[in-house]
Amino acid sequence: MKIIRTKADLRALTESWRRAGETIGVVPTMGALHAGHLSLVERACAENDRVIVTLFVNPKQFNNPEDLAKYPRTEDSDAEKLTPYGADILYVPDGTQMYPEGFATTVSVTGVSEGLCGGARPGHFDGVATVVTKLFLQTDADRAYFGEKDYQQLQVVTRLALDLDLKTRIVGCPTVREDDGLAMSSRNLRLDDSARATAPVIGRVLDRAAASMSAGQPAEETLARAREDLARAGMGEVDYFELRGDPDLKLMTHADRPARLFLAAWLDGVRLIDNVAVAPYASQ
Ligand code: AMP
Repeated sequence: MKIIRTKADLRALTESWRRAGETIGVVPTMGALHAGHLSLVERACAENDRVIVTLFVNPKQFNNPEDLAKYPRTEDSDAEKLTPYGADILYVPDGTQMYPEGFATTVSVTGVSEGLCGGARPGHFDGVATVVTKLFLQTDADRAYFGEKDYQQLQVVTRLALDLDLKTRIVGCPTVREDDGLAMSSRNLRLDDSARATAPVIGRVLDRAAASMSAGQPAEETLARAREDLARAGMGEVDYFELRGDPDLKLMTHADRPARLFLAAWLDGVRLIDNVAVAPYASQ
């Protein structure tokens, strides 16, 4: 696997692959790779002739400077973790490659970007949409792989690829969890032992609430009870805990059509997010 740091070097390689008629898959990441990221890389390697993993901690998608400063940066061990998978390139652009002086363009998706993380983190999805558009164009990818862990991001990116007629097809991949049900996340590294022991309550509460709504219980009551369970277990402030339609992400009061349950909550100064599918009760 080659480590490439400039757009020009990347372009030289992708053009030679194109001349050979090869397909290209891209896996955009911010690094601190774990088994969740690696599941996307594995799928990309199975479905494309060439695979580019990108590593860029995108300042434009952080609305909190402290969160950006604390984001783990572990390029060497990331490169090592990728070695067995057969990706061709680890693309690690710096800020000046992505946002040269005078950079003045923002890609902004309405609708699916509103509420949830879009409400709690103003500007976040503009940052995501802008960097992802650039990465798709820079890598010339046929397919791009995103995790359902960030389900709203997956919908934002799907919308933007459709709306801007990008050739890159968006592939959503299931959330990879620890054995105790905690969704894998680079942010889990920042939890101390006691918080790490508390965190799996998120997965348990989501599963229980989803089952209850699938059995016909209204969202409002179910979520109120679930919030109490979270607080009792030691979780901190909840940014949002909502039932939303899939894939439009409109707020719902009952699980009467395909939906997902979304949670963002704080623990030990770390913001954790997770979501699960909610099967509609009418069809059961
Ligand atoms: P990040 O580095 O956090 O920006 O994530 C890069 C990609 O990995 C995104 O598409 C995420 O949705 C995906 N991802 C992160 N955590 C997981 C996970 N636990 N399971 C599956 N995909 C994940």
